[in-house]
Amino acid sequence: MDVLVYDTKKYDRETLQAANADAGAPHKLVFVESLLNERTASLADGFPAVSLFVNDDASAPVLERLAHSGVRLITLRSTGFNNVDLDAAARCGLTVMRVANYSPYAVAEFAVALLLAVNRKLHRAHNRTREGNFALDGLQGYDIHGKTVGVIGTGRIGAIFAHIMQGFGVTLLGYDLTPHPECLALGMRYVSLDALLAESDVISLHTPLLPSTYHLINAEALAKMKRGVILINTSRGALVDAEALIEALKSGHVGAVGLDVYEEEEGLFFRDRSDQIITDDVFARLMTFPNVLITGHQAFFTYEALAQIAATTIRNLSDFEAGRHNENVLVPRSA
Ligand code: NAD
Repeated sequence: MDVLVYDTKKYDRETLQAANADAGAPHKLVFVESLLNERTASLADGFPAVSLFVNDDASAPVLERLAHSGVRLITLRSTGFNNVDLDAAARCGLTVMRVANYSPYAVAEFAVALLLAVNRKLHRAHNRTREGNFALDGLQGYDIHGKTVGVIGTGRIGAIFAHIMQGFGVTLLGYDLTPHPECLALGMRYVSLDALLAESDVISLHTPLLPSTYHLINAEALAKMKRGVILINTSRGALVDAEALIEALKSGHVGAVGLDVYEEEEGLFFRDRSDQIITDDVFARLMTFPNVLITGHQAFFTYEALAQIAATTIRNLSDFEAGRHNENVLVPRSA
């Protein structure tokens, strides 16, 4: 099948081509660096399938344009699908597939890395030692051992995060619509969101971005947290109201923050912008805090995860072409 692969980097091309070759190279993959949006949708004219990543815009007008030009399949190279209007896709007769499951260890381990880095101030220590400054003032952290860690969203990634954290000797609290059996087996106590916010020394976010989780961490939620709380977000930026977070950081209420995602990351992340002026004042302000560490949506970025994403994407294309249903097909909630 001919596939236009949007938003591609060298590593996407290499892993997808390798997975395609492993599968006997059945698909003709055409790579473009552009993000999908209303202006770039016309690039897909004549392609029955397109492949997208997290910041491609698959809103209703874009999907209508794709469907009009003959696209029948959208295959996402991600787990999250908040950037796709599934109702509009169904209306347009488009099948949407994703990578429901790829190394959840990649993201969970990265959340732990962010937590350890902001707690022990590794980002500042690294800068200091490079400058020949070996003073320790300002670098003091806390033992994680003995603390209470709240996991919001205890699905695949949240459960692995909890499992790793258990090794530190923490008390685990969980908030989810459905308790995860492995988390219960770890001794996690499921509590209300308010109780988790009030009792946790560390809070890590692992829910998908949905209308019900948009700005889950807003001014009210931040005010309910313990003073000095460490907040980690490796899920989706819009789970957190960034302006409210800035106020909570300015007041000293929030102790440290590790962010791999940002609500307005689409125009920022995945590109070298080191010679440009950052015009997003909220993002620029967040970057000024010494107790905030931001990475550019790299939690998924391991060799294992990329290989699995590529293999699943090729399998999705083959299954769709052969008319086989698989577990990666997304249906609108209203269906
Ligand atoms: P999952 O579906 O296995 O788990 C999500 C959990 O959130 C489920 O247990 C679900 O019940 C829970 N949930 C849903 N709505 C909720 C609500 N309103 N309140 C409380 N809990 C709710 O998903 P996963 O594989 O663990 O991935 C989680 C998220 O991580 C993805 O949706 C994606 O946004 C993000 N992610 C980020 C990266 C990255 O590179 N930073 C990579 C992969 C995934």
